Amino acid sequence: MKRKHSLIPLGGVGEVGKNCLLLECGEDLILIDAGVQFPDEELPGVDLIVPDVSYLAERAARLRGIVITHGHEDHLGGLPYVLNQIGSRTPIPVYGSRLVLGMARARLEEHKAEKLCTLHEVDFGATLQLGHIAIELFPVGHSIPDAAGLIIRSEAGIIVHTSDFKLEEMPRLGMRRLRQIAREGVHLLLSDTVRIESPEPTPSESVVADSLRDILRGAQGRVIFTTFASNLARIGSVLTAADELGRFIAVAGRSMERNISIAREGGYLTVPDELLISIERAERLPEHRVVLLTTGSQGEPSSALGRMAIGEHRQLRVRKGDTVVLSATPIPGNQTTVSAIIDNLFRAGARVFYPPVTPNLHSSGHASRQEIGQLLDLLRPHYAVPMHGEYRMMMLFRYLAEEHGIHPDRVILPEIGRAIEVEPDTVRLGRTVESGAVLVDGLTVGEVDGIVLRDRRALANDGVLVVAAALSRSTGRVIRSPQIFARGFPFDRDGSFLADAEGRVSHVLTSWVEREPEIRILAEAVKDSVAAFVYQRTRLRPMILPVLTEV
Ligand SMILES: [Zn+2]
Ligand SMILES: [Zn+2]
Repeated sequence: MKRKHSLIPLGGVGEVGKNCLLLECGEDLILIDAGVQFPDEELPGVDLIVPDVSYLAERAARLRGIVITHGHEDHLGGLPYVLNQIGSRTPIPVYGSRLVLGMARARLEEHKAEKLCTLHEVDFGATLQLGHIAIELFPVGHSIPDAAGLIIRSEAGIIVHTSDFKLEEMPRLGMRRLRQIAREGVHLLLSDTVRIESPEPTPSESVVADSLRDILRGAQGRVIFTTFASNLARIGSVLTAADELGRFIAVAGRSMERNISIAREGGYLTVPDELLISIERAERLPEHRVVLLTTGSQGEPSSALGRMAIGEHRQLRVRKGDTVVLSATPIPGNQTTVSAIIDNLFRAGARVFYPPVTPNLHSSGHASRQEIGQLLDLLRPHYAVPMHGEYRMMMLFRYLAEEHGIHPDRVILPEIGRAIEVEPDTVRLGRTVESGAVLVDGLTVGEVDGIVLRDRRALANDGVLVVAAALSRSTGRVIRSPQIFARGFPFDRDGSFLADAEGRVSHVLTSWVEREPEIRILAEAVKDSVAAFVYQRTRLRPMILPVLTEV
């Protein structure tokens, strides 16, 4: 019997982040990646965004497994949340490379979610048979070791899902598999598009390693180095250069420490034991013998570098004579915080090297427009779907594909929650399934919704007024005259404004006594009256919280 394949993106298309692609074939379901997204200022206070997998949760018994392509947050970081949402009674098999599994294990332990799944290492080139779905992982070049693309065999033909990739530094096995697959004929290509706006490939990792070594060689004092904690190749380059130049390395920041230890255990980093020292020991050594490897390449204020830059780190402080190297470019949305941290580092007296001011400090893990074009030429797919990009990037992909001989009608622009139906003579958008975003804030998952966010925005914009008064339970008369407390509200300097507002509240309470209203209705009247008064005098709409107590 022939079985149709549907691909249902639950995240990661038309946006960058929370990659999550559901593959459905007959009774079988497979989830590819379970990523997170980091919120912007549109979502005040929200810590993380994860994909809504309700559609999958309702069909949990049919889920044959979760395949994780690589260890980046936007592919792996949402795994504990997704497993919790699925709520399967039996543990779900999770497949990935050794590094992916190491990182997944750490993540699952943090969330006490180890029992929700079983972890299975997959070798590149081997075929995973999950129900009726056959998936082969092939190695791709990316900014983390062991990143995988997928080859999926469907009745309609071969589907190639690149996940995150660049052709520069593509492993030989990956390149060979792509060539072989191209000869078989590729029906559908799903391609990374996040760097399609850049025409050229970035410098190779070895060029970056050379420029890091040059900076290290030229530095007189301490060198503070930051990059993505998952960029093990870059971290390896710094370790090697430091070792050659007789410097010791101390690590600051939890994710950096965690990833280095996972990478050492898995054999992805070989570090002589004596090279890594504690922060205490680094502080006692002469400055020219020290490299600090820290988190904070995205300007995160709570990262080790963020706190060091403003003197709020428990042990470390940036000082005159330090050389700071930011070996990363800001992820879209992080430019402001990265600029702020650079300002702070200069203020603290450091010499700061960062891209693009200093060339060759960063190599992206994603294909440029030129590389995506090369991939299209290599695979000559019948159909293509741009993934991992915002709308304009998907459109640029459609134009690029046309330049490479693929008719625009054969480039399908995906939507979150919309099935892509893969058939022998066509690939098209089909049915829509339940999907969306689940917001994580502190320990709450999915509790922050539109109403909470509206309140937060109101609080942030115009502040809050708390109106307190005590009434007699028997007579309804005011016992303690009303008092208004303001926070984040600017018209409070001499108190006369609030005194006027309090008078207004007294008036409302007295005039309502005869009507013997329910306290809830009275509170509503107080709120309306204060809101009208405040708006008339200030044109502001603070949140107003009436607290009427009966005594
Ligand atoms: Zn990635
Ligand atoms: Zn990614």
